[in-house]
Amino acid sequence: MFIPELKYFKPETLDEVYRLLKSKENSAVLAGGTDILVEMKQGIRSLNNIISLNKIISLKNIDTTTDSVIIGSCATHNQIAESNIIKKYLPALANAVLTIGTHQIRNTATIGGNLCTCASCADSAPILIIYDALLEIGSDSGKRIVKATDFFVGHHINALQKGELLLNIIVPKPAEHFGAHFEKFGLRESASISVASVAAGILLENEIIKEANVVIGACAPIPMKSEQAISVLLNRNITDLTKDSELLKEVGEAAAQEVLPIDDIRASAEYRRNIVNVLTQRVVLKALSKINNIIKG
Ligand SMILES: Cc1cc2nc3c(=O)[nH]c(=O)nc-3n(C[C@H](O)[C@H](O)[C@H](O)COP(=O)(O)OP(=O)(O)OC[C@H]3O[C@@H](n4cnc5c(N)ncnc54)[C@H](O)[C@@H]3O)c2cc1C
Repeated sequence: MFIPELKYFKPETLDEVYRLLKSKENSAVLAGGTDILVEMKQGIRSLNNIISLNKIISLKNIDTTTDSVIIGSCATHNQIAESNIIKKYLPALANAVLTIGTHQIRNTATIGGNLCTCASCADSAPILIIYDALLEIGSDSGKRIVKATDFFVGHHINALQKGELLLNIIVPKPAEHFGAHFEKFGLRESASISVASVAAGILLENEIIKEANVVIGACAPIPMKSEQAISVLLNRNITDLTKDSELLKEVGEAAAQEVLPIDDIRASAEYRRNIVNVLTQRVVLKALSKINNIIKG
């Protein structure tokens, strides 16, 4: 299907973007276009005005402050994966975005677009929640900050109001003995949408798990925190959390029981639960192994 006639704007400043968003009826911004153009071609979305973000260079930056890593919403997945800043401070994010689409898609698709599309299977979302990311949102009336967890309101519904733009993703630099990992399961080796995905983050004090987080993707309308898996992990000694250990199985089972998967063309709900069980065990162990690397390194 062809995209119906529309007006295409290429503003060069944020103020111009805000003005266009406010004044143009039935408009949307375009970052990489890998979601929005597909939706328009499929007739899922019909827009009269497209506002390209391509000339807003400041939205493509990846930078650090003393405490945080700042990722511009228009940074592409490949830019993030290749960034030395991301590899140093947020290695699990670098690995997570490499699971998105193909090399060509990652060259174009942006992290902001992935979050704003707000699909339940968005692969950058679970790991950003694990890293306690904050989203900086701008409009002609100023800026506001929203926690990544609060940005996902429903499947394809985000927390942006009309006229608002996602500017930056602000990620606090993780503590020294923190490790994180994300894995997804799709029906192909590459360019596959997640049937289920899991991200875990663990903070150790000596050998005790002081903080833990487990976030599951594609098994509920929005990324879902597994409170049950987290409570199984908290205050446990990592020497009890080895491959095939009873404790690790308990964590996987807790996550699998808590998710709310659906049957769809990609998998049955039951299959998704099994995948969540396996992935949870895997990411918890890998998150732990990253901490050991940090301690040794
Ligand atoms: C072949 C293929 C494979 C894919 N594989 C995966 C995959 O494995 N995992 C995955 O998660 N996704 C996948 N996707 C989906 C898509 O590539 C990602 O969601 C991508 O990150 C979207 O980014 P974009 O820059 O292309 O967004 P766009 O299409 O430009 O925009 C998407 C939506 O977000 C809005 N938007 C974009 N930027 C902003 C902003 N800064 N502020 C406010 N609103 C904004 C747009 O208006 C639009 O509604 C795939 C897509 C294709 C076509």
